[in-house]
Amino acid sequence: MKQPFIPDFFCQLIDQPVNTLVDQAQAQGRKAIAYTCSYVPQPLLSVDGLFPIRVRAPNVVGTPMADTYMSSVLCSYTRSILELALEWAFDSIDGWVFTASCDHLRRLYDNLEYLNKPAFNHIVDLPHRSGEAAEKWLASEFRILADALSQAFGVDTGDQALAKAIKVHNQYLTLMREISAMRMEDNPPVTGAMFQTLLAATSSSPKDLLMDQLGELRDTLGKSEGVTGYRARLLLAGSHCDDPAYIEVMEKTGGLVVAERTCTGSIPALSPIPENGDPFETLARQGLENISCPRMMESFQQREEELLEAVKEYRAEGVVLQTMKFCDTWGVESGLLTKSLRKAGIPVLNLEREYTMSSEGQLQTRIQAFLESMGK
Ligand code: SF4
Repeated sequence: MKQPFIPDFFCQLIDQPVNTLVDQAQAQGRKAIAYTCSYVPQPLLSVDGLFPIRVRAPNVVGTPMADTYMSSVLCSYTRSILELALEWAFDSIDGWVFTASCDHLRRLYDNLEYLNKPAFNHIVDLPHRSGEAAEKWLASEFRILADALSQAFGVDTGDQALAKAIKVHNQYLTLMREISAMRMEDNPPVTGAMFQTLLAATSSSPKDLLMDQLGELRDTLGKSEGVTGYRARLLLAGSHCDDPAYIEVMEKTGGLVVAERTCTGSIPALSPIPENGDPFETLARQGLENISCPRMMESFQQREEELLEAVKEYRAEGVVLQTMKFCDTWGVESGLLTKSLRKAGIPVLNLEREYTMSSEGQLQTRIQAFLESMGK
């Protein structure tokens, strides 16, 4: 399969838990605020010199220390993050913002608080349903977070500052959506592994320090030849998946990942944020209406329709539904979604995985068999 490439500038940003752009911004006196869940309002962590970084745990091979404190039936993403935190890999970070999105993340928050207490560690409570009451509740939670950030870092978290941050964040989302839209083409100029590298690099860096490079890349990709010789267009769905290497294996086997319906993927992360009305309520509504996490009750049908719509929009020929081991949020959901997809005539491959890619050979064999079963 002939495929384009992306500049090393982006690849280097995902090699370490805390990358060089973060160091550069902190050297300018700015504050890095770590987060782990898509419900965390990134624009609120981008006001007045703050910047959000989505934490990853690249190259973690085991979690011996974390397993001492966290049950071994908690997902390996949360255990890997704690492992690195206990190795002081995140000590340069100025603060953490969590949400009570799943028990695993709650335990990570508790253990961080207990074992290596960050200067700032905050958890946002989340409703389990959407709707007007839930929006008001979440907006008030975001205002509590705003006050806490203002007290801790002396920053302006008022409505105007937040509205400005939403505008700036939308510029980033627009650029990423333009690149993502190229994946709808017959021969996209960007592979799934490349796009996941972009998502991981840009979400773990101060975005303003890479917007020029991102704009240049968009222009270059717009003129470059696309991927040829792939066997089938695939959509990746399921749990947290921020490791491009995982997608690379699928693409080495001949699949081409054209979209990701995961909390670290292209859908729904790149949806633009409305710029009118009360910015706190807007962010609350955006989160509750768009993120579509399986933790939300009475909204399976919405998630089912969104996934079927994404398959159609990106012309995916099959879906790889991957679940992080012990992830109860997606564990239940993936069974239901598999039924819906197969009923709609869409081939599905179910995979259970650990956070860090462990058995490349096994994964390659599964993908190979899946593509053959699709007659590809
Ligand atoms: S992968 Fe699942 S269990 Fe782990 S943090 Fe995400 S939602 Fe929670």
